[in-house]
Amino acid sequence: MAQTPSRTAVADRGDTVLHEAAVLVAGQRLDSEFQPVVNPARVHEVVGRVAMGTGEHVDRAVAAASAAFPAWSQLSAHERAEHLARAAGAITAAAGPLAELLTREQGKVLWESRVDVGGAAHILGYYTGLAERLAEDEVFRSDSRGTIFSGRRPMGVTGVIVPWNSPVYLAFLGISPALLAGNTVVVKPSELAPLTLSAVLEMLAAKLPEGVVNVVPGGGEAGAAIAAHPGIRKVFFTGSTATGQQVMRAAAGNLKNVSLELGGNDPAIVLESAVVTDRLVDELVQSVFTASGQICFNVKRIYVHRSHYDRFVERYTAAVDRLVVGDGLDPRSTIGPVNNRPQFERILGLLDRTRAAGATVRVLGTALDPDTWDDGYFLRPTVVTDVEPGAELVSCEQFGPVVPVLPFDSDDEVVGLANATEFGLAASVWSEDREHALRIARRLECGSVFINVHRIGASDVSMPFGGFKGSGIGRGHGITALEACTELQTIADYVDVSGFPGPSR
Ligand code: NDP
Repeated sequence: MAQTPSRTAVADRGDTVLHEAAVLVAGQRLDSEFQPVVNPARVHEVVGRVAMGTGEHVDRAVAAASAAFPAWSQLSAHERAEHLARAAGAITAAAGPLAELLTREQGKVLWESRVDVGGAAHILGYYTGLAERLAEDEVFRSDSRGTIFSGRRPMGVTGVIVPWNSPVYLAFLGISPALLAGNTVVVKPSELAPLTLSAVLEMLAAKLPEGVVNVVPGGGEAGAAIAAHPGIRKVFFTGSTATGQQVMRAAAGNLKNVSLELGGNDPAIVLESAVVTDRLVDELVQSVFTASGQICFNVKRIYVHRSHYDRFVERYTAAVDRLVVGDGLDPRSTIGPVNNRPQFERILGLLDRTRAAGATVRVLGTALDPDTWDDGYFLRPTVVTDVEPGAELVSCEQFGPVVPVLPFDSDDEVVGLANATEFGLAASVWSEDREHALRIARRLECGSVFINVHRIGASDVSMPFGGFKGSGIGRGHGITALEACTELQTIADYVDVSGFPGPSR
């Protein structure tokens, strides 16, 4: 496998600029097969190309990460934090063009891409602020018999596998704590939105010692090789529940530690004690339709107390009807296309089956540019009523701009409906009565409950985040993520063992 010198993520091809997500190992780009990455708003436009990483690439990346591990892990946490802070500065300086690239490959509107790309520096910055937490061992007994203390130690080579919906932000939720803790990483971007993340990772890799950050883009083959690799000690996986199960099976081979951030079917519950204001309606529009519904903790179903139901549906459909669907680079668009054809076709099929089952399906909003509509994976925002609580649309993770709205009559009923799912990522409770909202929140089987809000921004990087049940294992964000990529080591330094059981010699 030949190596070419590392260069920028942009390669000139005649008069077009082609972005490239390459296999990057110890600062070198490796040869590979490529496939095109298209713009979901104009599927005939090729934005760049992605390397289809193989098991052999993963072997090379793990070897480089293993070689870099001793020196990186032996730096102090503060020294590692200084490296990471320098990288955050370089990424911030390039954030504008990177956000545009993300919109072109992922589809989301520009402000959403800015949040995603901005996440890299923001999350790195947050974790560099936690270096002190790793600097000191914690003494929990010290007396005449000796001293016992414990400290957090890095695990080793860490795999970070991410999906296409928020590629940069999600990758850095795994990479940042892993690196600060002294691990080296092999990152696997999704083949469906790899370009921006790969460009950011090349900047990060260039600011750190060789081999600390390695990248193997591509499809399931590269991901599966990371999950199974005997040289990897930890995997941060973000993606669907089905793939998460495969990762966990593969990881069992060498008892890898896994953190799984998986799918969700988040309910929003508008209680009898809520007041249906413009704010509540607008927040719930954002909660459902940001990123065209393709965020793990977007609201996927809305339950409204029957006393508010008709009025809510009327105001909600009017608000959703104001959304404008178009190219994410056009400032008039409020939502972009969905990211890929399988997702696009899945949603259309789901809507066909929902209609056939007798539900009322309101396709709302405006197509910004009807002439180019059929060239993109555009879906207008859709509100569904007259739908059974157990219907497919209510129980699946639709991951698109479609939401069912259902009435309920009592707190017990809505708690039962909310919990009647294999998912358990997040939920929200909407009420003017804080105590009422908290009583319901504590009964919900999910990792996060938001009160009177449920959208990006609410899930702060410092706040433990993850799922009950089929929505995952472990908690990301905050100090919990730092703990999740370290092992707790206890050192028992005895000077007097005379009190121990057994005969003394
Ligand atoms: P997938 O599970 O299909 O893919 C996730 C990643 O895993 C991709 O990089 C994919 O590669 C890779 N992969 C595919 N097969 C394997 C395998 N056998 N072993 C290891 N890795 C593999 O998810 P999507 O990309 O479709 O993402 C959408 C899902 O992610 C939704 O369910 C969403 O809810 C969830 N998600 C969860 C979040 C959370 O924090 N809980 C946050 C964001 C999303 P490739 O795509 O290149 O095939």
